[in-house]
Amino acid sequence: AAPGLDPVTASAEIDLAALRANVATLAAHVGDAALMVVVKADAYGHGVVACAREARVAGASWLGVATPTEALALRAAGDTGRLLCWLYGPNEDLSPLVAADVDVSAASAEDISRLAAAAAVAERVARVHLKVDTGLTRNGAPEHGWSELFTAAAEAEGAGAVELVGLWSHLAAADEPGHPATAVQLAAFDRAYAGARLAGLQPQLRHLANSAAALVLPEARFDLVRVGIAAYGIEPAPGLAALAGVTLTPVMRLRAQLALVKRVDAGAGVSYGWTWTAPEDTVVGLVPLGYADGVPRHAGNVAEVAVRGRRAPVRGRICMDQLVVELGPGARDEPGDEVTLFGTEADGPTAADWAAVCGTIGYEIVTRVGARVPRHHL
Ligand code: PLP
Repeated sequence: AAPGLDPVTASAEIDLAALRANVATLAAHVGDAALMVVVKADAYGHGVVACAREARVAGASWLGVATPTEALALRAAGDTGRLLCWLYGPNEDLSPLVAADVDVSAASAEDISRLAAAAAVAERVARVHLKVDTGLTRNGAPEHGWSELFTAAAEAEGAGAVELVGLWSHLAAADEPGHPATAVQLAAFDRAYAGARLAGLQPQLRHLANSAAALVLPEARFDLVRVGIAAYGIEPAPGLAALAGVTLTPVMRLRAQLALVKRVDAGAGVSYGWTWTAPEDTVVGLVPLGYADGVPRHAGNVAEVAVRGRRAPVRGRICMDQLVVELGPGARDEPGDEVTLFGTEADGPTAADWAAVCGTIGYEIVTRVGARVPRHHL
């Protein structure tokens, strides 16, 4: 195993029952649409092998990953279900993906010919999802390239090299209900579908929705929704779960034991740069997690933790491996006492709370939890 923290000292506890409950809730919420759980980036930091298995159990008929390495790691771990991979480099060999029965995204005629070549090497048909850019302006074929993409796909399908499974795109602003981008993208997605049909294609699945759209935009659900963050119990933006009438439970609790407790005098400067000075005699505690473990440096002086359930503010700068919290004058906490940096609302602050004070999103808080923090799957 990679060198890491002692799991008693600090760990990310992963509540797999919460993951299963979130997935089941989302599957029910989207009705007839199939559910893909996105498990890229080590299942958003939650540990991909265990999360993938539990997501399947709870109703995910599809899993989604970004990179070929992620897709092949899932296959190596024994996952055999439908799996889509959408991000690869210009020189990557796609034949291992096709050989491993992974569905692959294609965004250009060049991608289609690479997949047809991979199919020949793997001696099986490549299953393809055509990615159209409807306005995110990220990956996906731009509208002026759609007809070339569709023609190439139709030819390759006619030749028996590829099977067209999906037509898909990704939304730019579904987490901001009413944002004009969404209507623009829905209209473009309809045009893409019409163009694909005109080229003689019949996509089996249309998919557009991320968590936000799965929650609050029924017209974007089509045949399949791709949910990531909501499966891990974090809202794409505050208020969306309530708007959808669903309850999501955070899956990750980042925790540690207090490594040290000490009294400090009024006037003591805390951590690098003395950005916080004790205004009175007080007691501080040392938490053995720092920015190398994914604790945002922006959390210095703004975030809170819970020590044995009681809130304690982070004081001074976050260091590479440690941070300081104020336990308060007269505090009786001791080394070994349990600290929750973030978890469920019952545990203390949530990842969303950390995101709010650090000027970021819950996605970044959980995906950045470092490789040396052991994941403990409950
Ligand atoms: N689909 C694609 C293509 C993605 O890149 C992602 C993640 O960014 C998702 C779906 C899932 O998004 P979310 O985590 O907001 O549900």
